[in-house]
Amino acid sequence: MQRLSVVIPIYNEVDNIPHLVPAVTEVLQKTGLDYEVICVDDGSRDGSTERLRHLARERHDLKVVVLRRNYGQTAALAAGFDQATGDVVITLDGDLQNDPHDIPRLLAKLAEGYDLVCGWRQHRQDDGLTRLLPSRVANWLIGQVTGVKLHDYGCTLKAYRRELLRDMHLYGELHRFLPALADMEGARIAEIPVQHHPRRFGRSKYGLGRTLRVLMDLLTIAFMKTFLTRPMHVFGLVGLVFLLLGLGLGTYLAVLKWVWGQSIGQRPLLFLAGLAVTSGLQLFCFGLLAELLMRTYHESQGRPIYRIREVVAGRPHALVD
Ligand code: UDP
Ligand code: MG
Repeated sequence: MQRLSVVIPIYNEVDNIPHLVPAVTEVLQKTGLDYEVICVDDGSRDGSTERLRHLARERHDLKVVVLRRNYGQTAALAAGFDQATGDVVITLDGDLQNDPHDIPRLLAKLAEGYDLVCGWRQHRQDDGLTRLLPSRVANWLIGQVTGVKLHDYGCTLKAYRRELLRDMHLYGELHRFLPALADMEGARIAEIPVQHHPRRFGRSKYGLGRTLRVLMDLLTIAFMKTFLTRPMHVFGLVGLVFLLLGLGLGTYLAVLKWVWGQSIGQRPLLFLAGLAVTSGLQLFCFGLLAELLMRTYHESQGRPIYRIREVVAGRPHALVD
């Protein structure tokens, strides 16, 4: 039977917890599936930890992971993923803004053969332009850069197949880019509209500062996506173009000097030719170095350059009639 793990990051959500856990478990019980709820306390200082501990003592289906300090939502999710034992992992926010009633629909979509199903907060209930506008821009940018076209990357409500999570590694604030990372792992990704509610208790943990960090992470993703497996294809190519340009200009100047007897010592073109040759060579060498680094990276982590969806073995010989 399928087993579900629901992972919930919690940072200072003391008043949400008493509503959250029962709401989630009620929905999960109705699915009739085997399940566990994993609340990751991300260094809360408002009594959330005690409240979670208290709840865990009276419930068999709740596991609480308490982090030493506040590491951020991405790390909290990663900690939950590492603890999860289910075949399917569902994540949602701990502030009741996501609706657990959407879980069965996510599961149904996943069962259609997807590896990742993302929630889309079609009618988002967050206040004001300061939240919605940066998020619009971020969603558009992420789509352009990563090539994974979703309406909403920031929605925590998502369902993952466990095998997919095993292959993904989270850093920084990369949880927003999980669909892009999943895509790099060859995942099949779907998106469905989900409910979104205003925050009733507690405060949002994010402001405008997040937008900048998201932009930086976007650069990292863009870099990883193109350069990670074949850096030489990028740096080497650009290096080659520069090198050829420099050599071309050099030849032209040499002809001017030796065939036509012109003086070229004062020409800006001479400097340009020198610059192009030097930077071309450097880019080329950089590409080679990056290539070496990437090989070490892949091999030291035991990360193959491919991902297997499934292996279908033939019937053992004795069974063939
Ligand atoms: N969160 C966390 N660690 C943090 C910040 C947030 O675990 O450092 C959790 C928070 O408790 C909530 C979820 O991540 O369950 C989303 O945070 P929030 O609601 O503040 O984000 P918003 O919905 O405003 O984007
Ligand atoms: Mg929220």
